[in-house]
Amino acid sequence: MAALIEPDLEFKRAILGLDAPDLTACYQCGTCSAVCPLSTPDNPFPRKEMAWVNWGLKERVLSNASIWLCHQCAECSAYCPRGAGPASVMAALRDFSVRHYAAPAFMGRALGAPRHLLLLFGAPVVLLLLLLAGLGHLDGLPAGRIVFAKFIPDGWVEVIYSLAVGLALAAAAWSGLRYLNAMQQAGQGRVGAAELAGAVVATLRAIFSQRNFKDCTRKRPGLRKTYREHAHRAHLALFYGFLGLVITTTSVAVGMYVFDYQEPWPLWHPVKILGNASGAVLIAGLAVFSWRRAADAARAGKSTYTDWLLLTVLALTALTGFACEATRLAGLRQVAYPTYFVHLVLVFFLLVYFPYTKFSHVVYRSAAMLYSAAIAARLPAARAAQAGLPAADAARSLPAA
Ligand code: SF4
Ligand code: SF4
Repeated sequence: MAALIEPDLEFKRAILGLDAPDLTACYQCGTCSAVCPLSTPDNPFPRKEMAWVNWGLKERVLSNASIWLCHQCAECSAYCPRGAGPASVMAALRDFSVRHYAAPAFMGRALGAPRHLLLLFGAPVVLLLLLLAGLGHLDGLPAGRIVFAKFIPDGWVEVIYSLAVGLALAAAAWSGLRYLNAMQQAGQGRVGAAELAGAVVATLRAIFSQRNFKDCTRKRPGLRKTYREHAHRAHLALFYGFLGLVITTTSVAVGMYVFDYQEPWPLWHPVKILGNASGAVLIAGLAVFSWRRAADAARAGKSTYTDWLLLTVLALTALTGFACEATRLAGLRQVAYPTYFVHLVLVFFLLVYFPYTKFSHVVYRSAAMLYSAAIAARLPAARAAQAGLPAADAARSLPAA
């Protein structure tokens, strides 16, 4: 029976505009799927995605787990005989899918276009200025020892940021569920809530060990260079650096509100040490990513606006955090308080807009990994039934999800 294909040419043009090379170069040889360290026989990629984008099959390609299972090792592009850049196409698809699943959709569009940047930064600036005006702190900077809470009280920061981040988390959960639902209805089929719950531990273990990034290196098919040999270590630095900063912020809040241990805390305090070490690790990871992206631009391809937006905001957030501490210790009142203001604006941008920036990969990639782990867990039994084998034998032949 003939299948009716309705190509979405707008979608294809959008992917090409996000630095995907000329798709017509691809002649579907399948080399990319064969060399991909993360591709599996049950859901091979990225060859089929190249065809789907070429045919304008927007919903089909965006509802596949593969676009987020890809960890951008660029091995496929290094071996593609036609220079079709499948790794760039997969990156462009992820970029597009963030806007496609964003809830509300206008926020996805706003974070995807540089012309809205002023407005997006303006929102927290106005919010904080209104707070300062309400507190009567716009007349001048607080006198005496530098304590940031004298300028913008911690309680206000906690309330405003908790509410805003709570809304962001709800939006992220909604976006992630939309993607999960799309995967359920597409290609590999539905998995039940119990199957998803059963896959949580395996998914968390893969996330905390960053195993897929490691597999990109461990399962490389040959010696051809990509620009991403650094990816596992650099991503580990970003992941644990950011996690350390989240633990630090939470510990400070607990210290202040549960134990009445007010800021500023001394530099030798373990929580301070954790915060400073985490910030340094995060900056080191960001520096490696940025340097490799810029230094090997020929292989990395054109970096998109969303790539640089996340790298820049993350770096500035960490750097202004250090600058706040340094200027406070140096007693530079005129610099310390404004720097703290800028730091709070950046923290707002990073955390409240995260469902719409590249940072949202924590949601979409986790959803794809969870779904795929649930599918993989059911496959041994199905294969065993097909082959008339015990399930354990079939499991041994299954590649890692
Ligand atoms: S992207 Fe390259 S390697 Fe992959 S199928 Fe097309 S031509 Fe072959
Ligand atoms: S970039 Fe790496 S993980 Fe992604 S499709 Fe290509 S080879 Fe596979």
